[in-house]
Amino acid sequence: MSVLERNPNRTEDNERSTVRKAVLFCPDCGRAAPPDEWERTARDGVETLECPACDATLTARPRALA
Ligand SMILES: [Zn+2]
Repeated sequence: MSVLERNPNRTEDNERSTVRKAVLFCPDCGRAAPPDEWERTARDGVETLECPACDATLTARPRALA
């Protein structure tokens, strides 16, 4: 829940709400889906998202940011 610290209300216009759909794209097969629909693996405090279609690794981020 540390995402709020630099999120001023004033910048939250319609532009932002349209773009911020949080959809991830697979670099390998081009699959597009929200973060919930990817294979999620947490290991050593690092969370990794993998494509269920082609097993490509999308992103690995420290768990503290999630
Ligand atoms: Zn893929």
